Formats: sequence, structure tokens, C-alpha cells
Amino acid sequence: MSSATVDESVSSRIAALGRKVLNGGLIGRNEALFLFGIEANADIQDLLSWANRIREHFKGNKVHLCSIVNAKAGGCSENCSFCAQSSFYQTGSPKYGFVDPEPVDQAADEAKRNSVTAVGLVAAWKGLNEGPMLDEVCDRIREMKTGGKTRPDASLGIIKNQRVADRLKEAGLECYGHNLESSRRFFPKHCTTHTFEDRLETIGYLKNAGIKICSGGIIGMGETREDRCDLAFELRAIGANVVPINILNPISGTPFEKNPPLAPLEILKTIACFRFILPRQEIMIAGGRTVNLRDLQSMVFTAGASALMVGNYLTTLNQSVEKDLQMLRDLGLDPQWEDESFTSQSGGCGDDGCSCEQPQREPALVE
Ligand code: SF4
Repeated sequence: MSSATVDESVSSRIAALGRKVLNGGLIGRNEALFLFGIEANADIQDLLSWANRIREHFKGNKVHLCSIVNAKAGGCSENCSFCAQSSFYQTGSPKYGFVDPEPVDQAADEAKRNSVTAVGLVAAWKGLNEGPMLDEVCDRIREMKTGGKTRPDASLGIIKNQRVADRLKEAGLECYGHNLESSRRFFPKHCTTHTFEDRLETIGYLKNAGIKICSGGIIGMGETREDRCDLAFELRAIGANVVPINILNPISGTPFEKNPPLAPLEILKTIACFRFILPRQEIMIAGGRTVNLRDLQSMVFTAGASALMVGNYLTTLNQSVEKDLQMLRDLGLDPQWEDESFTSQSGGCGDDGCSCEQPQREPALVE
């Protein structure tokens, strides 16, 4: 990044786009590509400051906190190149079967103590079908729901049947995590055992069931800025409610173990661009923030993030929840998030008045 003086034409173009978003407009792909292409340090700071205004305007000082429980670890049949839990790679990651009620209840207790809105059950497998495992998953969700300590979320892979999504909803599931991971174009470069379309189809079933969508991706896998931009527009098109941005933490033994890290300012710029494209969504900073951003972690909020994954990640460590809560207090942010925030979000393409450039999606077929 250069530290050249502010280019007035760049600065006024960022401001014009910022005002457009603040006035309820949606930026188009070419406008977003301009933002992703900003290079000068001073211009990036300008972009962050507008992203911060957009976050403040649509989200106030509320921050949505999530944590996860690794509900079934390791031995996954898929070959995602970033993942320590794939059976394709030797990573030394733990392996165990589906989790008992006690650890989930402990995670719910801890979440309640720390003002964490939701706990997600995350399973390392390709996906979920009807059968005894679905029964067990539904039991855990029902226990969390009736316990009333936290919102039960889950991330359980690919769903190929509407009935599975309906059963999850009936059990009390409110939000399902299913990242698109990258652009449609880049997807085959990190996974060949399932497709981008499989992921979109799953999201269709979940939406048909009335389940909220948590979907984002991973940056730093070798994708271009254009790939990041296109991922954000795909997420707008599917109407994601929560958009996690993970930053690759290269795991030894995986194909991406030697990927060079993204520069912190490039990461912050990406978060800001996502805020411009997805002004009403919860933009959540998830895996890889501690190792990639180090002392700049608190800047994710001034870059437009409104949500944070706290506690340890699936296979890597995070800074302590206490430290994260102190960071929020120091920034004047409030983790007491309200469910109504979901209803104030635009559903992306297909909504009345939506002016984004993406074609409207066909709903998933109901089996
Ligand atoms: S990311 Fe998920 S689907 Fe891919 S290998 Fe890891 S656990 Fe399996």
C-alpha cells in the first residue's frame, strides 16, 4: 500500500457512494469494484470512515456476538483446501462423534454469562439426511431452545431434502450457518467434492423452511478482489442475514498451508467494501482475526463490522471472550443485540425496491 496523499477524485467518489448507501440506495458491481481497487493508505482510511458511518446508521452501537461448539469433529469426507477437519489432509485435528447434551449446555451457560446471542452447533461432515443423526441433532437444538439461555444455531453442511430443513425449524432452529466460501468462479479451486450450486440449493431449502441464513466466506485463499466482490453480491442475492468473514489461518498439512497472509489494511478494506454492498446485514468477523489483524482487531468495527465470533474457533484459538468484551466496551459498543435487527434487514434481490444488479434467484425445488 502506498501512503500517497488523498486523491480528491477518489475521495469524492467514495463520499458519493457512501451517501448513496446512507440514503437507502444499493451500490452496483462496478461501483463496488472501484472500492475494492482503492490502493492508497489515505483513501483506504477514508473508505473505512464511510463504512463506519454506514454501520452506525443501520446498526447503531449494537454488536451481535456468536460462539460455536464443534459438535462433531474431524474425518470429514470433503476436500475443502483450508480446512483442518477434512479427511484428505493430515492435520492432527481432533476427531470425535456427535456431541452429548452436557458440553452444549455448558456452552449455552457460558454464552449467557458473556452476553453472546447465539451458539452454533457445527459438524464436520458433508451434510445431513433424514435418520437417527437428524433425530439426535434435533434433540440438541430442542434442548437449547427449551433451556432458553441462548439462540440455537447450527452449521451442519449440505441439505438435499426440504424435509430436513423443516425438521430443523420444527426443533427450534432459528439460523443456519452455510458459507458460500468464495465466488462461484473461485470455488472449484478450494473444493471439488461438492459445488457452489450444492450450497445455494441448501440455502434455498433453509429459506423455504423460514430459517435465517448465516453465510459468508473466507478471504486470503488466493482469490482476487473481484472474487471477493462477487462473493458479496452473491450473498446479497441470497438474502443472507449474517455474513461471516473468515480470514485464512493457514493450517499445516492443508493445501493452503503456505498461503501468504493478507495485509491487515487489505482485510479492513474488504470488510468496508462488504459494508457498502450489504449495508443492513450483520457483518461478522470470524476465524483468523487474531492471527491476521493482531493489534488492529478493534478496527473491524470502524471498517463496518457489526458482529463478532467469540471464544475459540473449530480448530484454532482466539483471544479470550473477556478481552473481546473489554474491546467492545472501550469502543462504546453494546453486545445486547435484539432479534428485531433481523427483521430490519433487506432480503437482497427480489425484495420490493431492490435495485441491485443481480438476477433474482429461483427458489429451491421442494421435494
Ligand atoms: S469446511 Fe466443512 S465440509 Fe469442508 S472439509 Fe471442513 S468440515 Fe468438511
